Amino acid sequence: LMQLAVPLNFIGFVYREIRQGLADLEQMFGLLDVDEEVQDAPDATPLVVEEGAIRFDDVHFAYDANRPILRGISFEVPAGRTIAIVGPSGAGKSTISRLLYRFYDIQAGSITIDGQDVRDVTQRSLRSAIGMVPQDTVLFNDTIMYNIRYGRPSATEAEVVRAAELAQIADFIRSLPDGFDTMVGERGLKLSGGEKQRVAIARTILKSPPILILDEATSALDTHTEQEIQASLDLVSKDRTTLVIAHRLSTIVDADEIIVLQGGMIAERGTHRELIERSGLYADMWNRQQEATEAEERLRRAREED
Ligand code: ATP
Repeated sequence: LMQLAVPLNFIGFVYREIRQGLADLEQMFGLLDVDEEVQDAPDATPLVVEEGAIRFDDVHFAYDANRPILRGISFEVPAGRTIAIVGPSGAGKSTISRLLYRFYDIQAGSITIDGQDVRDVTQRSLRSAIGMVPQDTVLFNDTIMYNIRYGRPSATEAEVVRAAELAQIADFIRSLPDGFDTMVGERGLKLSGGEKQRVAIARTILKSPPILILDEATSALDTHTEQEIQASLDLVSKDRTTLVIAHRLSTIVDADEIIVLQGGMIAERGTHRELIERSGLYADMWNRQQEATEAEERLRRAREED
């Protein structure tokens, strides 16, 4: 019977997630690995977002007790500002976004939004206040209209089209034989990484949350697509509190603050300019990426000349 209890419990968990309109989140966050569900406190109240200021205060976190991932992280994202988190692979960047969503509870410290601890508010209210543009967007086997409207099921068709326009994907959709009625997902039209990401951006534009998490794709997009996506992301994040998990440093030069994470601690922090002047870890990462981009450009030009 015990063997059955675990999957049943898990199915119950998944069902509740779907009911909350979060069907794709567990996949986005790799939640399938989670064996313990975070529960609402008995006296949990809905989160009240007045400005949307985020604060991490001396946060300690480990997935496994004997392997600390975050070791005393403190930072603030003032309302309406953009903070970028960078650092080597495995540094704990995505973990920070999962903790803000309260997919896990921290071992010490606190995470607050407008002064309310994420452990004291209902998960439903917390998650509806946060919009997420993930690394890999999961599409439903349904129309593109449905997939975008998922951001706000009550949205009208005109609002969905407007969101697609703002996310710079409307022209592409109109070029498809069935337009917005085109079936996508595993059994429909397969979209490229960049197209899927723009669907996620359109969804988020519809949802219009006060707080945004942008988890940048690791996979390289071509420069043109990257610029288009950046333009639509700049548009969504304007005037919203935004946390960017960045892999390509070129996309975050304008962030209000850049936090460089290494070994679960903040190694450096400052604006792009301050960090470049420091000639530390960030400056090294920046120079390496610049060299790689230039090498790619040279290779591309050489190919074009052939
Ligand atoms: P990347 O740039 O490669 O995406 P990251 O900085 O975002 O990396 P995280 O995804 O936050 O890194 O992971 C930090 C560490 O935590 C990694 O060593 C990873 O193996 C570990 N980790 C992530 N998720 C889990 C999990 N569900 N269970 C146990 N360990 C995990």
